[in-house]
Amino acid sequence: MKRLLFVLLATLPCSTQALQQLFPGGTYNSAVPTPQSVLGYEIGDRFTDFRSLERYIDKLVASSDRIKRITYGSTNEQRPLQLLIISSPQNLTRLDEIKAGNKKLTDPRTLKSKAEAEQLINSLPGIVWFSYGVHGNESSSPEAAILTAYQLCAGTDERTKNILDNLVVLIDPAVNPDGRERYVQWANAATGIKPNTNPDAYEHSEPWPSGRTNHYFFDLNRDWAWQTQRETQARIPLYRTWMPHAHVDFHEMGYTSTYFFFPAAAPIHAEFPPEVKKWGAIYGKGNAEAFDKLGSGYYTAEFFDLYYPGYGDSWPTFNGAIGMTYEQAGGANVAIKKPDGTLLTLRQRALNHFTTGIATLETTVRHKQERLQDFFWILGIRIEKPVAYQGIPHQRRVRPEPRSAACENTHHAGHRSPPTARNSITGCSAFLHC
Ligand SMILES: [Zn+2]
Repeated sequence: MKRLLFVLLATLPCSTQALQQLFPGGTYNSAVPTPQSVLGYEIGDRFTDFRSLERYIDKLVASSDRIKRITYGSTNEQRPLQLLIISSPQNLTRLDEIKAGNKKLTDPRTLKSKAEAEQLINSLPGIVWFSYGVHGNESSSPEAAILTAYQLCAGTDERTKNILDNLVVLIDPAVNPDGRERYVQWANAATGIKPNTNPDAYEHSEPWPSGRTNHYFFDLNRDWAWQTQRETQARIPLYRTWMPHAHVDFHEMGYTSTYFFFPAAAPIHAEFPPEVKKWGAIYGKGNAEAFDKLGSGYYTAEFFDLYYPGYGDSWPTFNGAIGMTYEQAGGANVAIKKPDGTLLTLRQRALNHFTTGIATLETTVRHKQERLQDFFWILGIRIEKPVAYQGIPHQRRVRPEPRSAACENTHHAGHRSPPTARNSITGCSAFLHC
């Protein structure tokens, strides 16, 4: 069996070839370096430490006119916090104009008329923010950040160009660099040349205190609303200058599971307008179609709520975005055998996050005007009779139906596995039941 498993691992497609399989019709600019050419290994062969992640970003910034990078702060252990801004070269030359126009949409009092609002809604690109690695030991998502940034900077096909023409994509490749580095240094040291796929092997059992939290062992995915931690305090002012229309927080859950994306499970916060449910279903449908093409497993709406405002899905949703959590089966080293005998590899985990990331971007492009209109409506709804709302046909806000006390007590548990592994895409009605 060991020999068979080694053969399976050795014959897995390399990640850049796999990208082309995941991205049919994809063509690439050879002047933009592949991850393998910089890192010396294919994504998924081992964990990318933080310095190597920085080194690859340096190469992307030096070789592509589609990317800018800003350093918005530093961690307690003095690692830089970085945001990649990726779009068409034309959009990158007018970022200040885009941010100023989008800021107006966040407050209808700054608009003179309905026509001005409509002009902005029709002309602005969508803004999508991807946060990778808030839990440092949910380790496939920064690897997916590398693949996603490469695709967007190097892709010369029409699909990639359509994304870049219509969106500004903001990528935080490592929200919690200290936690990630704590995990990666342990994980790379704990495994040998050949991965041990036995779930009981030491390399799959990270010791305390784990890389989930930041330097002070604080869970940054509980801090968005309260901003007690240095990383959050640096990020939120930057977030407020962008006010994205969609935000995805990439996570991992137990290795026996499949993949979770929205619609979220109950409870949904009672202050969210009905549009939040609608958008969870729209983005879920886009992700489901992408996974169905691959034959990959997923589920929705059975787990992971949208209630506590300190999460990386709820807080962005309170700020006008559709904020979503995506959860990949993981929490293991580079390869682990699942109870059904199949292998779960780091490469597949990263590729799945890549797949939902691209699907989320393409869904935003398809529904851009409606997404911006809802963004405008939701953020301005508490303001008394704004002139820019006059004549805009839209559903009035209604309170969601009351939920049971049992629903209200549901918690977001990052490492628990859901009860099922079947594919399902659940409609909006599921939000009101637990
Ligand atoms: Zn997590």
